[in-house]
Amino acid sequence: MSETTNTVPGNFIRTIIDEELAAGKHDKVATRFPPEPNGYLHIGHAKSIVLNFGIASDYQGTCNLRFDDTNPHKENKEFVEAIKKDVEWLGYKWDALYFASDYFEQLYGFAVELIEQGKAYVCELNAEQMREYRGTLTEPGKESPYRSRSVEENLELFKQMRSGDFEDGSKVLRAKIDMAAPNLNMRDPVLYRIRHGVIHHQTGAEWVLYPMYDFTHPISDAIEGITHSLCTLEFEDHRPLYDWVLDNISIECHPRQIEFSRLNLQYTVMSKRKLTQLVDENLVEGWSDPRMPTIAGLRRRGYTPVALREFAKRIGVTKSDNSIEMELLEACIREDLDRCAPRRMAVLNPLKVTITNYPEGESEELPAANHPKDESMGQRPVKLTREVYIDRDDFIEVRPNKKWKRLVAGEEVRLRNAYVIRCDEVIKDDSGEIVELKCSYDPDTLGANPPDRKIKGVIHWVSASHSEPAEVRLYDRLLDHPAPDADKTVEDWKQHLNANSLVTCENARVEASLVDATAGQQFQFEREGYFCRDSDSGGERLIFNRVVTLRDSWGK
Ligand code: ATP
Ligand code: MG
Repeated sequence: MSETTNTVPGNFIRTIIDEELAAGKHDKVATRFPPEPNGYLHIGHAKSIVLNFGIASDYQGTCNLRFDDTNPHKENKEFVEAIKKDVEWLGYKWDALYFASDYFEQLYGFAVELIEQGKAYVCELNAEQMREYRGTLTEPGKESPYRSRSVEENLELFKQMRSGDFEDGSKVLRAKIDMAAPNLNMRDPVLYRIRHGVIHHQTGAEWVLYPMYDFTHPISDAIEGITHSLCTLEFEDHRPLYDWVLDNISIECHPRQIEFSRLNLQYTVMSKRKLTQLVDENLVEGWSDPRMPTIAGLRRRGYTPVALREFAKRIGVTKSDNSIEMELLEACIREDLDRCAPRRMAVLNPLKVTITNYPEGESEELPAANHPKDESMGQRPVKLTREVYIDRDDFIEVRPNKKWKRLVAGEEVRLRNAYVIRCDEVIKDDSGEIVELKCSYDPDTLGANPPDRKIKGVIHWVSASHSEPAEVRLYDRLLDHPAPDADKTVEDWKQHLNANSLVTCENARVEASLVDATAGQQFQFEREGYFCRDSDSGGERLIFNRVVTLRDSWGK
């Protein structure tokens, strides 16, 4: 896997940029990533981040981080800070940080310009009337009775709107374009609305008049000298309005809006509105729950920036809507962790094994490689003692089939990095549950196979006295349907929440060296999967999250 942060593979947007640069249209490329701080970033945003920052980097241009903060009642500072953290964590540095609210005064000035030209007016239709007047895709709209107000009256009313003289919803500023336009977005769209009583996270109580996205976005792009305003396909129908705004105000720069398709990922939902529901209804443990498709959730789950950037590259950038398989995301993290995660032994569901011919009170340190393919990662000692734990799943009393390679009563198996043991006796409690195995070991089998018989299996283990108790959280898909929000057979997409998306192994035992694991550090627990030390649960308790299984076993 490539370690470079910023190289985007070819795509139709790069082709456009190449052509424009060749034709001398620009001498430098400027992009921006414009999140609304009304939630945490999700993996769909990562696609947009890698695209925007990647293009800036590849063309030695610039990329700004700009908060689209025109909807103050849904936004807050926590989201602003979380978004900054996530962009940085993904490996990107913005050239400048802006808020659309930085431009509120300028935006107001441009609105006044439109009014002065007779291209905007104050309208008093209420929301319902506005809908009625707008018409439909097959029928033209009707002109608002307020459309013919004089410039002077409009200027005065707009000023009063800013001063807070009118109630919410009583008046809006609308562009005067064409109520018969085939594109509904061009039927006198709203440019400004009144919102009393919200404290904006950046501008406080200064404004009660808030600009709409379709007015704010093109002007913010132009003020910043953005050359390519990359956005998702749902804005395609807004492009004529984007261009109209810039064509009708006194600003020179006119960025080009280019749309690409959103990332949809199977077995998850990707809209902030839906993710907010999961958080607000306590269906997950907040925005950074390791099952969430948020950047913060993926980070806590143990994903790496390298894997997420690689994923963004592999899915590419096109104009066609599609749904990406979860397996692709999982393959990216598996490849990255296979390369860089140290190997350790951890027993998730311990079964005690007493090695009866191993001397009591004695122990030995056996070297174990930290990576099977990368010697530079070195070794660590693991301690063998008379009592060890193996996983319950690695023992069975009666061989079920020829393929079974783990321990069977009366037979042998190798303990990884150690000796071959034979199960001599199975101890059960009154209810018939297996509570312990009595085994014996063959002292001649350290690093050598016995000459006279074949040992088929190798299992992992930890010493009972030289291991640490841990909690291991096994995460699975949050939803049990590939397209939960498209399934018409259920009333609510949340009916597809997977009840088994978190299984906790409370009594796991991990090898002693793992007490030094730092928050967020990833490991391969041999034969189990990739895990990372949980970063959000402080304290001494060792908690590990499963990042991903070793192999793609979903649905098999
Ligand atoms: P959501 O629908 O999840 O609320 P949004 O588009 O409202 O997303 P913004 O914060 O406005 O979220 O998005 C910031 C940028 O990220 C925009 O340019 C948007 O087009 C892009 N983006 C959002 N979701 C996706 C996605 N699923 N795939 C690709 N880009 C996305
Ligand atoms: Mg948005």
